[in-house]
Order: sequence, then structure tokens, then C-alpha cells
Amino acid sequence: MLFSLLFLVQALVTSAAYLPALVAVHLLYWLGQGAMLWLIAAGHTASLRDPGITGVMMAWAVIFLSAALYLCYDCRELILLGYLMVLPYGIFRLTWRGFLGVALLAMAGYTSVMLVLHHQNKMQWAAGHEAILGVAFLISLLSYSLLGREVGILRDAYRHKNRQLRQAMVRIEELAVRDELTGLYNRRYLLGSLERRQALANREGLPFVLAFVDIDHFKQINDQHGHKVGDQVLEELAVLLSGSVREVDLVARYGGEEFVLLLNGLTLVTAEPALNRLRMAVMEKRFSQSALPLTVSVGVSQYHPGESSDALINRADRLLYEAKRSGRNRVITESLERVREMVD
Ligand code: GH3
Ligand code: MG
Ligand code: MG
Repeated sequence: MLFSLLFLVQALVTSAAYLPALVAVHLLYWLGQGAMLWLIAAGHTASLRDPGITGVMMAWAVIFLSAALYLCYDCRELILLGYLMVLPYGIFRLTWRGFLGVALLAMAGYTSVMLVLHHQNKMQWAAGHEAILGVAFLISLLSYSLLGREVGILRDAYRHKNRQLRQAMVRIEELAVRDELTGLYNRRYLLGSLERRQALANREGLPFVLAFVDIDHFKQINDQHGHKVGDQVLEELAVLLSGSVREVDLVARYGGEEFVLLLNGLTLVTAEPALNRLRMAVMEKRFSQSALPLTVSVGVSQYHPGESSDALINRADRLLYEAKRSGRNRVITESLERVREMVD
């Protein structure tokens, strides 16, 4: 903007005859510039590789400078400075090729306008002086281009590192919330998720239940078949549990051989048959290469709006203990407070 004003002042100082055409070209330039800024602000360029359309804007400025040179030969020094002012904008944003393209456009614009002016006898041609200026301009463009290339290489390396860093961050975040053995969410994630569900239930009255699933006599499996087989059983049970719930539900490994399910939108009445089906699916499956049978006990509590997560977990834990005490391989829900024996 300031530079534009300088042009007009220079034109005025030199000869007022330059002014009308120069003002018109300036207006045209700023109109184009405004239109491009509007396109960017309205998000129309968002899907492009460079949403700031740096290359187009620079090319537009170069064309404007060439037109201004044609109209006001006496502004030539300013225009040369203008070219050199435009180019640094592309160093950080354009690719090396794009940058070279704009630099060549500047060189071509400058040279062809100078030749046309000379041809039309509109300027006094001092060949030596012009040649030196032209070469100096060319050298400046070349050194800018080389700088642009260096910056481009640095930028690519930086992008690559950035991408690697982002991937590592995603991986670290995953590791922080996942259980290493089973790949299920861990207790920390479960507690965070529980808080979010509590807030939703308090706000919108969406019910949910929490089920504690604990393998029966798991210690015996370790003792009789070894820890490795025990691990395999845990992994296979994790797969079964994950495959048995809907996408809106959550399965977490609470610790050891204890798992927690958060079943969204269910009440005790609807959760109990679902959990019993799950319990039977465990009973029917054979685990690890040793084809081991397995049973689980389940304690189920429904969230009472306003209560703490500890209270909800403790109730389910107490019901699980109840299931163990009364013979294992069963689901006990809190509302019924009685054992539902499902001996098949
Ligand atoms: P109950 O029916 O009362 O639940 O008996 P249980 O044997 O399943 O329960 P207990 O708490 O006595 O034993 C749990 C066992 O789970 C003990 C521990 O060594 C084993 N365990 C915990 N974490 C792992 C693990 O990551 N891998 C293996 N293989 N075993 C584990
Ligand atoms: Mg157990
Ligand atoms: Mg246990």
C-alpha cells in the first residue's frame, strides 16, 4: 500500500502526465488483490495446496509492476525495488519451482517491457547502464531463487520431522490410554470416559450401566498352564468382550483379570439379558491352544444421576463379590439384589 503511494508520488514529481494511467493500473491491481483476499477469507481456496495462493498473488504483483514500468519509465528504480520486494514473500511458501516461475516471470516482464519501450522510442537507452542494471537484477533474482531453494529444503525437512513428531504423539497418546497386553482401554481412560458419561447422564438423563467382569478361578489357569497361557486367555477374552458390545459402549481392562464394560443407553433391565448372553458366550468358547473352558462373574450397577464414579464402581464391585460368593459364573444386577442363576 505504502509502496503504491510512493509510485504515485514519484510519478507526480516526474510528470503529472503519467498519473491517470498509473492510478487506473493501481486501482486494477488493488481490485484484483482485494478479490483474492476475499476468496481466501471466504474459504474458497481452503482446499488448495497453498490456501494463501501466494504464487497467484505474487504473479499478479509482478504483472502489475511490469504494467507500471511500461506506463512510467521514470519510476524504473522503484519498480526494480518492487520486484525485489515481492519475491521474498514466496521464499517460505512457494515450492522451489513455483518460486523460480515467479522470478522468471519478473525477469521476462522487466526485459520485455524495457525492449518494447526502447522499440517505441519512449526512453533514452543508455545500453551499458541498462545492461548493468539488467544483470544486477538477474543476479538478485538468482540469489533469491537459491535462497528460496535452501528454504524449501529446510521446510521439507522440517515438515517431515513435524509429521514424524505428530505420529509419535498419536502413538504416545494411544499407549497412554491402552492396556499393553490386550489393547483394550486402560483404567485411566475408563475413569475419564466415565466422567464424560456421568456429565451426559446428568445433563440429558441418558442412562448407562457399569459391569464388572471377573474371570473365575483364573489363578488356577496360571498355576496349571503357565503365565503365558494365562496371558493368551486374557487376550482372547478381550477380543470376545470387544466384539460383543456396540460401538457406543466401552470395554476396559480394569486390572489383572478384571474388565469393566460401560453400556450406554441401557438400564439394568435391558443390560442383564445382554450380559448373560455374553457370560454364556464365554462359557461356550474354548480359550488358548489348550482349549480351556472359562467362566466369568459379573456385577452390574446403573448410574444414579448425581452420584460419584467411586460410588457407582463400588456398587458393581460389591455385586461382583456377591456373584463370586454365591457360586460364580453368574450376573448380579443391583436392582434385583438377588442371584440369577443361569446354569445351562
Ligand atoms: P476368583 O474366581 O475369586 O476371581 O479367583 P481368581 O483366581 O480369578 O482370582 P485371584 O484374584 O485369586 O487371582 C487373579 C490372578 O490373576 C492372579 C494373578 O496372577 C493373575 N493375573 C493378573 N494379571 C495377570 C496377567 O496380566 N497375566 C496373567 N497371566 N495372569 C494375571
Ligand atoms: Mg478372578
Ligand atoms: Mg479379580
